[in-house]
Amino acid sequence: MNRETAFQALELGLRLNRGKPCSIVFFGGEPLLRRDVIYATVSRAREMTREGKGRFYFRLTTNGLLLDSELLSFSLANNIQIAISIDGIREAQDTHRRLPDGSSSFDRVRAKLELLLAAQPYASVLMTVTPATVKFLGESVEQLSEMGVKYMVISPDYTAPWQSTDLKVLKGQYQHLADLYLAWTREHRKFYLSPFEVKLLSHIDRQCHLKNRCELIQRQITVDPQGFLFPCVQFIRGGPQSSWCIGHLKQGVDEAARSRIHARSTIEKEPCRTCAIRDRCNNTCSCLNWHATGSIETVSPVLCRSEQMLLPIADRVGKILYEERNETFVHKHYNPAYPVLSLLEDTLCVGQIPKMLSR
Ligand code: SF4
Ligand code: SF4
Repeated sequence: MNRETAFQALELGLRLNRGKPCSIVFFGGEPLLRRDVIYATVSRAREMTREGKGRFYFRLTTNGLLLDSELLSFSLANNIQIAISIDGIREAQDTHRRLPDGSSSFDRVRAKLELLLAAQPYASVLMTVTPATVKFLGESVEQLSEMGVKYMVISPDYTAPWQSTDLKVLKGQYQHLADLYLAWTREHRKFYLSPFEVKLLSHIDRQCHLKNRCELIQRQITVDPQGFLFPCVQFIRGGPQSSWCIGHLKQGVDEAARSRIHARSTIEKEPCRTCAIRDRCNNTCSCLNWHATGSIETVSPVLCRSEQMLLPIADRVGKILYEERNETFVHKHYNPAYPVLSLLEDTLCVGQIPKMLSR
């Protein structure tokens, strides 16, 4: 993406948000290959804020290879939250994320993760799990935690060819994660472990969980490098000629296309109508459904199986910690002020760290 396109995306974001702060996410491919565009975009956004046009927040997702002190200093100065994609221990990372010459990326990415955590101690790690790496999941989460990672977002690759034996391994790994969740909570540690937090929330506060579910194209739009607009990241694969393209930065959003796609995304999926856990299931991600099945109205069978395995395991964790009246658990999940208090704590902590970057 060039600067002009990125600047036009800022303008569109403000227009669509009607004065509310706009969140910009640098994502896809490897954003740090064009750090010049990132720097220019953030500077332009700051200029727009000074001109009174609106405010922006920034996030960036990277594979970590090009992270360095300069970029981290810039991210701290401009409040850019960085998430890093790492698949876990060496065996997991090197299964799908080798360097172009075929060598291991593990040591390089691990060093970059350490650098990132020194600057942003609450930075998220994004882990993708495939049939080939699922057996490493629990060990990977443990190792990342030992390195100081507190926020882990774990996503099974639902497009991969999962066999029933792989799903059995996944279930065992969810149980391993459940044991870690119990242990860490009893140690009063602060952490976020994605498959469990959302499932626990969906048990404790169904309304809040439902409110936070995806509303396709209502809260975000994806801009491709040429400026074409799409409902979300995966739909870029469809291309500008496809029915998933909802306009261009120059002409703006095709509202008819936007409404049509949004309406399709809200249709209750066929096997889910009578499912007892449909209000707690992650079946509403249209990106995931489309990528895995080719249709936003069809749920991935692997996701369905995974959700059915995960829910009872997560509920058991919640029941145990609730019955123990574990203070950390109760504070995290039952105190409405927890997200704000937690954010304040993270911000204060981050504020003390930047000096470490100069090493
Ligand atoms: S578990 Fe399966 S059937 Fe039930 S709501 Fe989720 S995707 Fe639908
Ligand atoms: S479609 Fe999926 S990835 Fe896109 S915003 Fe919704 S939940 Fe997120």
